[in-house]
This record gives sequence, structure tokens and C-alpha cells, in this order.
Amino acid sequence: ETLKRILADDQAQSPAQGSKERKTYSAERLRRAIADGELVNHYQPKVEFASGAVAGFETLVRWRHPQDGLIPPDQFIPLAEESGLINELTRSVLRTALRHARAWGDDGYPLQVAVNVSMDNLVSLDFPDFVERALGEAGIAASGLLLEVTESRLMKDPLTPLEVLARLRLKRVGLSIDDFGTGHSSLAQLRDIPFSELKIDRGFVHGAWRDASLRAILEASLGMARQLGMKTVAEGVEDREDWDFLRIRGCELAQGWFIAKALPPEQIADWIADWEV
Ligand code: C2E
Ligand code: CA
Ligand code: CA
Ligand code: CA
Repeated sequence: ETLKRILADDQAQSPAQGSKERKTYSAERLRRAIADGELVNHYQPKVEFASGAVAGFETLVRWRHPQDGLIPPDQFIPLAEESGLINELTRSVLRTALRHARAWGDDGYPLQVAVNVSMDNLVSLDFPDFVERALGEAGIAASGLLLEVTESRLMKDPLTPLEVLARLRLKRVGLSIDDFGTGHSSLAQLRDIPFSELKIDRGFVHGAWRDASLRAILEASLGMARQLGMKTVAEGVEDREDWDFLRIRGCELAQGWFIAKALPPEQIADWIADWEV
């Protein structure tokens, strides 16, 4: 039952699904979109359960297609990975995110920005140097950046990503193990990589208060993260019940529609000013 729910949840993930037909795009069209600045960063807040304070924002990329409207990442990230465009895409998303984080800081909100990286980004050994340069150019401390890592598929070369992540951590960049609890992240990774944050997949969060098996997985994940000295984040906090349930269990950060959906950059300052739990 639980597995069925999680799988169903995953399929319901992208907002445009169901409402619009799924189009397919060519790698060449996507390459042009990246070059022409058609990809836009939206940001979803992460807030502290205990105080309600805003801790940071996760970058969620969208494609603002001139004809097809706002396309969710599930419809072009896999293409970017298959076609080798993911390196360019990630680097462009990351530079923009750091620029925005710098602007928030200049407005008096020095908040951490999280960027999703694909495993394919972590097979190039020069990625840590790229990140360091981008931080320097934006004038952001390494701890102001968090990279969220999801294992999207089996790696031909699993060792380079471990080394790349270790080098990033040595530079003090935050590392989050994303979608924890799904097949995409594994306990083995926790042994090998010094993650600073554990992000529990929304499949174990939303509705856990009324489902004994979700609750068990959730509590075990929180306990383990604590023992490993990692910060805990719950994604998919959709309603007051989810919020209260996780807050009482000592989860540190909340993300989800109960707080806010991903916002375009121009709405962030107003959102922070208006936000109260
Ligand atoms: P993710 O990293 O697990 O991001 C969370 C997804 O859940 C986002 O979908 C977000 O809009 C959605 N979400 C947030 N709160 C809630 C909630 O309360 N309930 C529900 N049902 N959903 C919620 P989105 O923006 O469509 O992104 C989908 C996935 O695309 C992301 O999953 C991430 O894996 C990937 N992605 C997004 N941006 C990037 C990027 O720049 N690079 C890479 N490599 N992947 C990205
Ligand atoms: Ca993520
Ligand atoms: Ca996630
Ligand atoms: Ca997820």
C-alpha cells in the first residue's frame, strides 16, 4: 500500500502533467533554450519548524518556452542528462542562483540557496573548481550554497562522484542527500559521503501522521540523521497536519506547499516580508 502510494505520488509530481500533453523536445532545441536564457530559476522556501524562520531556498528550474508556456523540469532534465547538456544546464542554473542569493543578501536576507545537481555533473573532476569560482564571482561563502544530490540511475563510474563530493565538502559547500527513502538514495551513500543534510522524500512526509509504516520510516530516518550529525529536512509538507506532526518529532526544516510553492525570483522579497507561520 505504502509503496503504491509513493509510486503514485511520484507520477503526480509534475504540475503540468495531466493538464497538458507531454511534448518531446530535441536536444538542439534545449541547447538553444539554455543559450538564450529561456530557463528560469524559481525558488521554494525552506523554513525552520521550531521558529518559522526562513533558512533558505531551493532552486527549481523551469523552461519558459515561448510557445508551450512554463515547462516543469521533469520534462527536460532527463533529456539534458541523456544528451550531455546537463553540465551546461547545471552551471547556468547555479550561476544564476548565486546571483540571486547575492541579491537577497544585499537586501538584508543572507539566505542559503540550494541547487539540484545530477549525478552526471559529478563525473567531471573540475566541478568543485567551477563551484568555487562561481562562489567567488558572486561573493558568496561556500556555506551559503547547498547542493542537493539524487542518484538518478546506476553509475558506470561510481568513484569519481564520491571524490567530487568529498572535495566540495572540504571546500565547505553544503551537501544534501535528496529524496531520501526512495530507491534513488541509499544507505550506502551515507557511509561514503559526508552529507550535511538529509532530505526526506515527500512520499514519507505527506500523510505520515495517519500511516503507521510511513511514520516508522520517517522516525527511523530522523533518528539516523541525528546520529550522523546531519540536518533534517522534510519535503512535501502540504498541510497543517504534516507540519505539526514533523515539528513535534524534531525535524529541523520544512519545505512544501503548506509554506509556499516555488516562486519566481521577483516575488521572493515580498514573500519573505509577508511570511509568518
Ligand atoms: P525535487 O528536488 O524532489 O524537488 C521537489 C519537487 O516537489 C518540485 O517539483 C517541487 O515543486 C515539488 N513540491 C514542492 N512542495 C511540494 C508539496 O508540498 N507537494 C508536492 N506534491 N510537491 C511539492 P519540480 O519543480 O517539478 O521539480 C521536479 C524535480 O526536478 C526535482 O525534484 C528535481 O529532482 C528536478 N530538478 C529541478 N530543478 C533542477 C535542476 O536545476 N537541476 C536538476 N538536475 N534537477 C532539477
Ligand atoms: Ca531537490
Ligand atoms: Ca527532493
Ligand atoms: Ca522528491
